[in-house]
Amino acid sequence: MQIETLILGAGAAGMMCAAEAGPGTLVVDHARNPGEKIRISGGGRCNFTNLGVEPGCFLSENPHFCKSALARYTQWDFLDLVGRHGIAWHEKTLGQLFCDGKATQIIAMLLREMEAAGAELWLSTELAELSHDGTRFVARLMREGTEQVVSASNLVLATGGKSIPKMGATGLAYDIATRFGLEIVAPRPGLVPFTFPDGRFSALSGLSLPVRAQTARGAFEEAMLFTHRGLSGPAILQISSYWREGEAITVDLLPGSDPAAALRTARGEAGRRALSTALGQLLPPKLVAYLGETLDLTGNLADLSDRRIAALAQALSGWELRPQGTEGWRTAEVTLGGIATDGLSSKTMEAKSVPGLYVIGEAVDVTGWLGGYNFQWAWSSGTACGRAIAETHRRS
Ligand SMILES: Cc1cc2nc3c(=O)[nH]c(=O)nc-3n(C[C@H](O)[C@H](O)[C@H](O)COP(=O)(O)OP(=O)(O)OC[C@H]3O[C@@H](n4cnc5c(N)ncnc54)[C@H](O)[C@@H]3O)c2cc1C
Repeated sequence: MQIETLILGAGAAGMMCAAEAGPGTLVVDHARNPGEKIRISGGGRCNFTNLGVEPGCFLSENPHFCKSALARYTQWDFLDLVGRHGIAWHEKTLGQLFCDGKATQIIAMLLREMEAAGAELWLSTELAELSHDGTRFVARLMREGTEQVVSASNLVLATGGKSIPKMGATGLAYDIATRFGLEIVAPRPGLVPFTFPDGRFSALSGLSLPVRAQTARGAFEEAMLFTHRGLSGPAILQISSYWREGEAITVDLLPGSDPAAALRTARGEAGRRALSTALGQLLPPKLVAYLGETLDLTGNLADLSDRRIAALAQALSGWELRPQGTEGWRTAEVTLGGIATDGLSSKTMEAKSVPGLYVIGEAVDVTGWLGGYNFQWAWSSGTACGRAIAETHRRS
């Protein structure tokens, strides 16, 4: 079978690319259904983009690489598409846009767009063998147990990253890219909960509070959640992408407030109140009890010297924690690292050294923050690639 474009992966980026790539496009995926990560995203409502998308919200060895694709297909362009398909949406928080209904509406929209563009989709299809004769890519595919050989002018790697192998994530894009001489930035789990060795937070499990979580490379002010195994919640997931093994993170338990001033005022107004009671008005009492195991929270407010107040305030706004590790690929929402951008054109996503080979979506070393940024990268990089292929096709 001779085609123009073979897209490996019917996820967010692959389907978006297929909707733009023009005639002769075939998308294959080993899963039984397309867009499985879209289906489970955003608690089933898909946080499909963010009003505040900008290049600074993405991590990559080359922070400039994402600029072109994001500028040429923006969050407003995707909103326009969602609007044309009559999908109702709302902003939840921090610019995060979700479907009012189900995430499957986004999958259905992409399938309709692909169909309108004439793209074909083969599910339950494995890549058994791939070769390249210098101009065309020849793929031996096993489609529901039957062999099919496909020869394509273009090959698009859209098989995503390594997060959540249970959902079909594999390192296929990295393997193929390596074979074609592209470099890989070591993949790491991102947007992932932290684990701590001794179940030290298990008594606080389920407790959530607004914090500012920080490493040397970034800071996020959002909710933090204590879990049986460690720490999670948006602030922790965000900072996990900036964290390196062995490093400590700093957590401000009272972001935007001045605990020293609050304690001094409380001391003046109610000196006979127990320090732990006063702190229980600033923080969840269960957390205060936990902190009391390592900090001296005994005595009344009147007993507190200014020096002790300052030390206490410092401990609360600069709580240093050293995670043992993360929950890893099993729960990571994204993959940091991936196919190095040096070898790719930021305008078309085509490999500079292999004409006709393209890489899009999470497989590329571009990773967004939590909050709709990763899907926007999939839409933007998929569109950049699809339009470039369609353009080449028109010219030939
Ligand atoms: C639980 C969860 C929730 C998320 N929620 C959000 C959210 O709300 N907002 C947001 O912006 N991002 C979210 N993300 C991240 C987002 O899902 C990904 O960044 C995005 O799906 C990446 O798109 P992609 O097309 O590059 O890869 P994917 O969507 O992962 O698609 C890759 C496709 O390739 C297929 N594939 C893989 N290996 C092979 C192989 N060997 N052979 C054939 N096919 C293969 C897979 O089956 C899959 O269909 C979430 C991720 C997870 C895990």
